[in-house]
Amino acid sequence: MKILLVEDEKNIADFIKEILESEKISVTTADSVEKALKNNYSDDHDVIILDLMLEGKSGDGLVESLRKAHSSIPILVLSALSQISKKVELLNLGADDYMTKPFDAEELIARVNALYRRHLESSSADEVIIDDLKFIRKQNKIIRGGRSEYLTKKEGEVLDLLIKNQGNVVRTEDLLLKVWQAKKGYHSNIVQATIRRLRKKVDSGFDHKFIRNVHGIGYMFVTES
Ligand code: CA
Repeated sequence: MKILLVEDEKNIADFIKEILESEKISVTTADSVEKALKNNYSDDHDVIILDLMLEGKSGDGLVESLRKAHSSIPILVLSALSQISKKVELLNLGADDYMTKPFDAEELIARVNALYRRHLESSSADEVIIDDLKFIRKQNKIIRGGRSEYLTKKEGEVLDLLIKNQGNVVRTEDLLLKVWQAKKGYHSNIVQATIRRLRKKVDSGFDHKFIRNVHGIGYMFVTES
């Protein structure tokens, strides 16, 4: 696995690099978003670990640029900020996971490995067609009524889970557990924010809504027939 680490504080960057390299993970560091973008680093790496507070363009800018360019590379954001609103904002932009500093080295490794594994799994899967919806898993792309939309990793995983359980309610806590490997400290706002984006891409402008909210319990994928 090759990781791109975007972090401007050298001691933190060195610390993370050391942790990952001890796990035989190769690490490229960049101290700014500008540098990461200019070198197209995201093309050669499997996961990005991104600090939020950077000189120049902030970390949000990288998430936004990559997702606009339809890159589905998993992004783990690291930040000292702990406000839920910021987390939701980042997840809305398309970050896949979020950890606050100070963080536990083992947890960082576990999260990175989980992101990578899920990225590989979703990359190798096929496409699924339900009514007028086509979901191309390996591209994280959906096509409905001639309109195509790219999904983020998390959106793709949520949609996948809902489709696999179509006709049944998937509980919010199960989504948190399976998609985010949620532990204490995670908030169901993350699920809501992801579902909101997913609905906009899947259902907005169509009479039939595939993704239904089952109030207080979770979400259900409902076919037309
Ligand atoms: Ca920083």
